[in-house]
Amino acid sequence: MSELSTLEREQLYSIDIYPKRELTVVRGEGAHVYDDTGREFIDCAAGIGVASVGHANPAVAKAVAEQASKLITCPGIFHNDVRAAFLEKLVSVAPEGLERAFLCNSGTEAVEAALKFARHTTGRPNIIATMRGYHGRTMGALSATHKKEYREPFQPLPSGFTYVPYNKAEKLAATIDETTAAVIVEVVQGEGGIRPANAEFLHAARQLCDEHGALLIVDEVQTGFCRTGRMFGCEHFNLKPDLLCLAKAMAGGVPMGAVLASDKVQPLRGLHGSTFGGNPLACAAGLAALEYMIDNDLAAEAERKGQLFAERFAAKKSAAVRDVRQLGLMIGIELKERAQPFIVKLMEHGILALPAGPTVLRLLPPLVVTDRDIETVVDTLHEVLEAE
Ligand code: PMP
Repeated sequence: MSELSTLEREQLYSIDIYPKRELTVVRGEGAHVYDDTGREFIDCAAGIGVASVGHANPAVAKAVAEQASKLITCPGIFHNDVRAAFLEKLVSVAPEGLERAFLCNSGTEAVEAALKFARHTTGRPNIIATMRGYHGRTMGALSATHKKEYREPFQPLPSGFTYVPYNKAEKLAATIDETTAAVIVEVVQGEGGIRPANAEFLHAARQLCDEHGALLIVDEVQTGFCRTGRMFGCEHFNLKPDLLCLAKAMAGGVPMGAVLASDKVQPLRGLHGSTFGGNPLACAAGLAALEYMIDNDLAAEAERKGQLFAERFAAKKSAAVRDVRQLGLMIGIELKERAQPFIVKLMEHGILALPAGPTVLRLLPPLVVTDRDIETVVDTLHEVLEAE
């Protein structure tokens, strides 16, 4: 090993893509992570909404270890026992009408697949996405992502994408037509600033898709798997997607994504694929994570703990806070100034948090976070935001 520190070696050998924080995380347990000096943090970043069942979840760790010594890889051209078990479990918790899945390795791949499925099924070119929407960084998913700064350096991107204002049903009605393959929406815009949809907009999207023969893609990469207080966020709205994109918390931290599809979606044998998609290691992790979520009713936990946060946070007022937007343990605190300095201060106080746009402080704690930790997070927030 070289004389250089972890930080120096990462800086030297990785392509400069992420604005990094000065923290080397080496271990995690439950809702806590530890740095290389042993300092403990309450992790409200959770791998960006991944570690919902907790870091080093014993059930996931055991399943991964056992599967690793049995079979790690098995492509989709063969059948596999763990994959079959995982698919069955996934479909059993899926919103009504979503009965088949395509397994992949990340959120952006899930979106990419859903876009391809929609074009293939409808034979149409166009996709309607929403302003402030975020769907990933690969070329197709990036085309559906609204933020210009993310898209423009990589042009030309796939064409056929337009953006309508989020929560404005009349704008969607004026844009959708017989060339529309799909409408893609998040039920809560995550990267776009923790902005929940209103039911009217989502129901209008469903109805307009039906009227015009388009498919409704719901991107629950961030809201899925109990984060919002339901297994899937669309349950809050009784919304029935044709395609549901999933990833992040799905496999307890092991990379995995999926698209769930209704029977409107045509099979496309030989037209899509992924070497790693549905590998037995990820499926074993996914099965263990999903069973853990169900057995421990993490959806109810997220709802209850979200409420605890909301009540305690609202008890004190801070002049720095403009708005609080929240669904379960998906929390956005809109500030009157830039969020980044507060995120740095929180880290100094032992709490890891995320931004969601320039002025929104985002908290996505593991759903196994304790009530005590939530109280500590709120008290520290009050201190850092100088609440009265
Ligand atoms: N869709 C949504 C709603 C997301 O929040 C994200 C990631 N933040 C993605 C897609 C992309 O997922 P990934 O980073 O796993 O590709």
